[in-house]
Amino acid sequence: MKILITGGAGYIGSHTAVALLEAGHTVVIADNLSNSKEWTIKKVTQIMSKRITFYNIDVTDEEAVENIFSNHPIEGVIHFAGLKAVGESVEKPLEYYYNNLVSTMVLAKACQKYKVMRFVFSSSAVVYGENQVPFVETMDLLPTTNPYGETKVMSERILFDIAKVNPAFSVSVLRYFNPIGAHESGIIGELPNGIPNNLMPYLTQVAKGKLKKLRIFGSDYPTVDGTGVRDYIHVMDLAEGHVAALENLTTGIHFYNLGTGQGTSVLELVNAFEQASGIKILYEVVERRPGDIALCYADVAKAKKDLGWTAKRDITTMCRDSWRFENNYKDR
Ligand code: NAD
Ligand code: UDP
Repeated sequence: MKILITGGAGYIGSHTAVALLEAGHTVVIADNLSNSKEWTIKKVTQIMSKRITFYNIDVTDEEAVENIFSNHPIEGVIHFAGLKAVGESVEKPLEYYYNNLVSTMVLAKACQKYKVMRFVFSSSAVVYGENQVPFVETMDLLPTTNPYGETKVMSERILFDIAKVNPAFSVSVLRYFNPIGAHESGIIGELPNGIPNNLMPYLTQVAKGKLKKLRIFGSDYPTVDGTGVRDYIHVMDLAEGHVAALENLTTGIHFYNLGTGQGTSVLELVNAFEQASGIKILYEVVERRPGDIALCYADVAKAKKDLGWTAKRDITTMCRDSWRFENNYKDR
């Protein structure tokens, strides 16, 4: 199939481009490079020795999006493009609501106009709020604590309403847990702008000596060792989950958790990283980070049953691959 990947120069989109090309699909990427570099697309073509058509456009721009649909026989869209920094979304709510909601509506509209009936959307475990773990797709969504989370809840709702009145439209909403790791070649990986907010890129930069020490946000949570527990998933497993979702789409809207089903605490991740890299991580425990929850991990039965997909790579592999990319990537 010929697939339009929005946000395909970004972290998850670029790894998904590799997985789609590996599965025999062709890809067109649309990205405004607001949080990524064209370099990444060149590296994807290097890994796969295959061509990718790239449009440097903003996907809130209706005309620019329609131009792609009229020039390519697009058969499916995977919509990754979006702003994703939770803290920044509190500072800049309008920017987040505008970018994340208008992009989804512009793409859904173009799909209706050009009769593209396959749509895969990047959602997040954030939509579960403080539900009881493990999070199951049938749970009622609870309020999130920030505009970023709300854009995911609202985008899901918009797609739900569109699918309800368009019986041929097939939508897969993928709720990601915590993607880490990198392509095993070490050629592409996560490229955060400035000081990372997320744990794994922060850890790799401490290990590399770019940052002094890790700050662990709270050690008094009701968890195995008091630190926050998350369901870390290798980005290539996540990428392969998108291929499975796309290839197993059925009409209507379907919601899937993409995680491993396993919770790992901050301290457990630090230990796993130390073992994989052979480097001791300097850390201190500080106050909890506002908005963080104690526990977040997935029930993964539905994706296994409907998509025949499960995550395969373990925590050690995730740490090894993140570390390999950090070491390989010089231009930072
Ligand atoms: P990323 O920032 O690396 O990739 C997003 C890409 O979208 C970037 O390349 C950016 O330049 C592009 N973009 C943003 N707005 C755009 C616009 N209006 N037009 C064109 N391009 C635009 O982020 P990622 O980690 O790859 O995340 C991809 C998607 O998955 C996002 O929607 C994010 O909210 C969601 N998600 C990510 C995580 C995570 O932890 N990384 C977890 C859950 C959900
Ligand atoms: N965390 C931390 N120090 C950091 C970044 C994150 O202790 O510098 C913790 C955070 O409190 C959470 C976990 O690591 O328990 C994962 O955080 P991340 O920001 O990577 O993902 P989130 O689940 O918040 O989206």
